Amino acid sequence: MKLLLRKEILRLVAWLLLGAVLGYYWDQPALGAAVALLVLLGQHIWQLQRLVRWLQAPHETPPEAQRLWGEVFDGIYHYQRRQKADQQQLAQLLERIQDSSQALRDGVVMIDHKGDLEWWNHAAEKLLGLSESSDRGQPITYLLRHPQFVDYYESQNYQEPLVLPSHLNEEHFLEYQITLFGENDRLLLVRDCSKMKGLERMRQDFIANVSHELRTPLTVLSGYLETFSDYAEQLPTHWQRGLTLMTQQSARMEHLVTDLLTLSRLETSDFKAEAEPINVAELLAAIRVDALALSGQQHQVLVDADTQLYLRGSANELRSAFSNLLFNAVKYTPQGSCIELRWYHDSDGAYLEVKDDGPGIDSKHLAFLTQRFYRVDSSRSSQTGGTGLGLAIVKHVLLRHQGRLEISSVAEQGSCFTCRFPLSQTLLGRAA
Ligand code: ADP
Repeated sequence: MKLLLRKEILRLVAWLLLGAVLGYYWDQPALGAAVALLVLLGQHIWQLQRLVRWLQAPHETPPEAQRLWGEVFDGIYHYQRRQKADQQQLAQLLERIQDSSQALRDGVVMIDHKGDLEWWNHAAEKLLGLSESSDRGQPITYLLRHPQFVDYYESQNYQEPLVLPSHLNEEHFLEYQITLFGENDRLLLVRDCSKMKGLERMRQDFIANVSHELRTPLTVLSGYLETFSDYAEQLPTHWQRGLTLMTQQSARMEHLVTDLLTLSRLETSDFKAEAEPINVAELLAAIRVDALALSGQQHQVLVDADTQLYLRGSANELRSAFSNLLFNAVKYTPQGSCIELRWYHDSDGAYLEVKDDGPGIDSKHLAFLTQRFYRVDSSRSSQTGGTGLGLAIVKHVLLRHQGRLEISSVAEQGSCFTCRFPLSQTLLGRAA
């Protein structure tokens, strides 16, 4: 290209010189040079015109030309062909992606940055009842109006999927998972999870039924054991030991059944927030009294609670969650330990903190603590009457209150269990 440019400049100089020499012949060298320049300019304008005409009809082969203009035509022609090939490749790729998405059993819906439906596959058509003629370009929240879906869609927090009954058939359950891409465009994946939900419901019902059925025989057993214990002194010593063990184990089983029933109630019942917001400071004062009774006044329990900060929710459930945390702190720390309860808020949320200076928990256990029946040290747990369900209950209660549990602990230094609630779940400035 550089060489061509140099040649073109030489050509210009040659034309100017020729014009000047011819003009000199008539005693007008400047006029001669100007005429030569005009001729050259005319040539370029003509080529430019051919270029414009060709660009307006891009399917035709480029016009024939030499030197610099020939190079320009060829360059544009090759660029156009490359573009066309790339476009074709992209179109094929897009077609393949669309074909494979069509073949998916899960619904795929593309939503543009304005929230309008752009494209969907056959499965989405069936699962959501979409119709090509009436729904394209409609806002997704116009079609899926369930308040929970609208909240999920607007939250922009799509880490977890959302499961809801289908709006076409209440007995079917659909799992929605949104992914953000491009410039605020969204990809919505929809899956029929009715079978999984059914199995889950069967598991929950089974646990609830078994626990319920165990309750009556256990009450009878504990009742008789209590009566026998009144006459324990009249029994031989080796029987007395057996009786004590049976009484302890039946109490443990009763705890287990109660915790299992609590958990299944939390899983299956609808959440009902109490009409009146809960006075957390008062609640903490009450569970402090219970915790001191459990500890036999052998622990120090300090409470620092914001009396103006109220929480919306179920007082019973929250009481059960907070006391589980406080009772754990009593059960798993030695006598003389100090436990601090804090209830406060900042600009991000409200926090209930239960902190102790006990033996702490090794970091490798922290991620599993809220799993059912997970225990750090089962021998210690059975001594304390633990069921391994306490923290699972806490997690479920918090989930029902839009909250979550955070656990931090350093071995030999103590543990801190924090219940974190969104500010929307709280009420500030109420007179106590
Ligand atoms: P459990 O009914 O056995 O107490 P949880 O689910 O309440 O079950 O607790 C799970 C495990 O977490 C317990 O077995 C215990 O080892 C550990 N744990 C809970 N709280 C504390 C604490 N404050 N300090 C040390 N370990 C704790």
